Amino acid sequence: MHANKVASLFICGPCERHEDPVSRMLTVYENLPDGLLQRDATRLHEILPGPCLIHLKGKRQPALFISLLLHGNEVTGWQAMQTILSKYQQGELPRSVYLFIGNVAAAQQGLRHLDGQPDYNRIWKGEGDGPEAVMVRQVLEIMAEQRPFAGLDLHNNTGRNPHYACINRLEPDFMYLASLFSRTVVYFIRPDSVFSMAFSKFCPSVTLECGRPGEPHGVAHAVEFIDACLHLTEFPQHHMAPHDIDLFHTVAIVKLPSHLSVGLEGTVADICLPNELDQLNFCELAPGTVLASVNNETVGSGFLATDEHGQDISERYFEVDQGHIRTRMAVMPSMLTMDTRIIKQDCLCYLMERLETPR
Ligand SMILES: [Zn+2]
Repeated sequence: MHANKVASLFICGPCERHEDPVSRMLTVYENLPDGLLQRDATRLHEILPGPCLIHLKGKRQPALFISLLLHGNEVTGWQAMQTILSKYQQGELPRSVYLFIGNVAAAQQGLRHLDGQPDYNRIWKGEGDGPEAVMVRQVLEIMAEQRPFAGLDLHNNTGRNPHYACINRLEPDFMYLASLFSRTVVYFIRPDSVFSMAFSKFCPSVTLECGRPGEPHGVAHAVEFIDACLHLTEFPQHHMAPHDIDLFHTVAIVKLPSHLSVGLEGTVADICLPNELDQLNFCELAPGTVLASVNNETVGSGFLATDEHGQDISERYFEVDQGHIRTRMAVMPSMLTMDTRIIKQDCLCYLMERLETPR
């Protein structure tokens, strides 16, 4: 089949901007480009000039929107999609698909994002004049017209976490979609610039955390979930039974204060993380749990925790006591990572509380 590249879309600005390659960021295809399926994430750039939207026709409408590689090193989504598309290559997809492949340039380097690029899962408010903001507005405009069946955004994380789905609205269709992936469901409203938040205005949407990149069972799980979504005909209107779902609410994001350095145990840094810290993900931590040691008198409460409204609530959760950062109350972390680059670029972890299932 010949790939039919429809257009490099770009929003008209001053004419000279048409010569600027970054203002032509999004490419839209009406077929799967030849050779794409055979390439792993680090080689997609050989075919795709950058972020792209690929429309694939299937039996049912409206289309399922699938986003992957918003973070270039999180390859499970693409690996799952390679399996799904190979399976249906000779036949017809059960439902039409819009496939959005995000940060192709960072995927080439195996990085979350390149220096100088924004984080591709923090751009979905589409604010500003940057090329990514322009691209996001183009995608959202197309989707506002198409009204997708559902929106899936596939990710990995760097620490040890169970597979789980995140939602931004506590409605029956969102919770049902999430529960098809995992009984562990996390509800959050900050950060509010993520893909699933933007898509929650059109359709049920989820962010899927498929474990660490490269784990075969993460790929298998994502394949099974995507296939289930392709075969789904409608969403239930009723809330699920409370025993069918473990629902958590993200109450804070935990970052490293920008003036401090972080390292692993045995390195020289202001804050040192113990080995195996990421084993604490999705564990309820008792007050007094040690999260790090400190080598700097001026670290304050150590980590910087902010709530959903951007308020600094560090002192509610953390204190420094005899050279250690300890928790002050019972909390449950998620996405704790020991990757110091990710900690500096994004965050150390999120803090969660258990939430009653709505009825
Ligand atoms: Zn991610």
